[in-house]
Amino acid sequence: LADRSTANKFPAPHMKDGIIMRNYTKFYIDGQWVDANDRPTLDVINPATEAAVGRIALGTANDVDRAVTAARAAFRSFSRSTRQERIDLLGSILQTYMTRRQDLADALVEELGAPARLAFDHQAGIGALHLQQALETLKDYPFEQLASDRTRIRMEPIGVVGMITPWNWPINQIICKIVPALATGNTLVHKPSEVTPFSAHIIAEILHDAGTPKGVYNLVDGMGPEVGAAISSHPGIAMVSFTGSTGAGIDVAKRAADTVKRVHQELGGKSPNVVLPSADLAKAVTENVQRLIRNSGQTCHAPTRLIVPQDRLDEAKAVAAAVAASIKVGDPNTDVDMGPLVSRRQHERVSHLIQTGIDEGATVVAGGMGRPDGLDRGFYVRPTIFADVTRDMTIVKEEIFGPVLVIQTYSDVDEAVEIANDTIYGLGAYVQAATDQEASDVAARIESGMVYLNGAFEDPTAPFGGYKMSGNGREWGRIAFGDFLEMKAVIHREKA
Ligand code: NAD
Repeated sequence: LADRSTANKFPAPHMKDGIIMRNYTKFYIDGQWVDANDRPTLDVINPATEAAVGRIALGTANDVDRAVTAARAAFRSFSRSTRQERIDLLGSILQTYMTRRQDLADALVEELGAPARLAFDHQAGIGALHLQQALETLKDYPFEQLASDRTRIRMEPIGVVGMITPWNWPINQIICKIVPALATGNTLVHKPSEVTPFSAHIIAEILHDAGTPKGVYNLVDGMGPEVGAAISSHPGIAMVSFTGSTGAGIDVAKRAADTVKRVHQELGGKSPNVVLPSADLAKAVTENVQRLIRNSGQTCHAPTRLIVPQDRLDEAKAVAAAVAASIKVGDPNTDVDMGPLVSRRQHERVSHLIQTGIDEGATVVAGGMGRPDGLDRGFYVRPTIFADVTRDMTIVKEEIFGPVLVIQTYSDVDEAVEIANDTIYGLGAYVQAATDQEASDVAARIESGMVYLNGAFEDPTAPFGGYKMSGNGREWGRIAFGDFLEMKAVIHREKA
């Protein structure tokens, strides 16, 4: 491991008008925090207070170019690192990560508005799980195997990987890309979300302090159409791993096509939750609403379409309304269930979609337009439940990315499956039944990358990704390694 000092970190936060400002106006390139003095800056807004709490510099295609040059140079040696060297590196990253877990959680409260408990336990917690999982996988991952008695298959790192990540679970989305990419010997150029850059900068510090060799990981802040586009089209980048909206993902894939890059896409969702007649309906509806409001509904595989038997609709509405009314919404620094949405833009978008649901004739069962009581500042919305919807309504078809649930109904199980699959997306799905076997039989008919049965939670060893327009490729666990590897067949004349 390289001998790294922490001396070249960016300046410590300073106070302005009584608010701690984080000045994150450097990029991390070739193992150093480099000045971006002549670049325009962007304020980072605390969504609970609407106050600026820091700023970043907005990079250009030139900055991406510098980062790619560093990453290509580093690839020459890092791609030949041994399994043990990479185990040592990931172990060191995990150790350093654990010492910064609270800092990461604090950053998420500030930049994302995540409730402190969610930020520490889940948002920051999951990064450690990915690291532990990759360390386990790396112990015996088959980088070389025999295809026949004269052909060996070598799995080799693909090269420089461009990573473009979103704001909603930023630590998870960064760590679940960095970890398998490093474990398999690749080098990286990363553009984090301009909305939540603090956590990304802390992760860069962690990688630095853990002794990641220079040039192996590089960070350039900026906007999607500039820095994201430059990464997507750069001829020195072999693969782009993108997480974000389907529209931006399509844009990335189009730009990547000219250089025939591998494109890995983790995109949007509109995940169904099928409650079969045998299920405990009250439990299923309660869990659905609680799961939906986690992270203010800003989770790509959140259950946003609750599909119940027609003759149980009234019961489902009553339970959903009661649970929605009990959700504590407020200051993420206090003990609340739900904080604000991430940004003014997101607040406007979600509010507009709630209004569209009303205008198109859906019944508001809970929530609706307007702020939660007593919250005059901050990007807060009310947990909102709609019923009496039709399949062509905007709120049934579009990803809303807020705490908004639609309740749909079916008359038999075939119709329930058909409604579940009636979407351009295929990321998460949920099935509730009296037995796992019954739920599993329905899961087999759902077009979706992950199906959670009977209240099951995420599993860091399970592949994460989508069918249809929810994406290509898989993250998390052992499977993720394959996405970052090229396959070389070495063929001998005689038995090898
Ligand atoms: P977004 O698409 O606006 O931005 C994601 C990232 O892409 C950001 O870094 C952004 O700057 C960049 N970007 C934007 N336009 C770009 C372009 N044209 N070219 C290159 N880069 C560009 O998404 P968001 O609002 O940050 O995140 C929310 C979206 O992400 C939702 O649609 C959600 O479903 C999706 N998401 C998917 C998964 C998954 O695993 N499938 C996980 C989390 C979020």
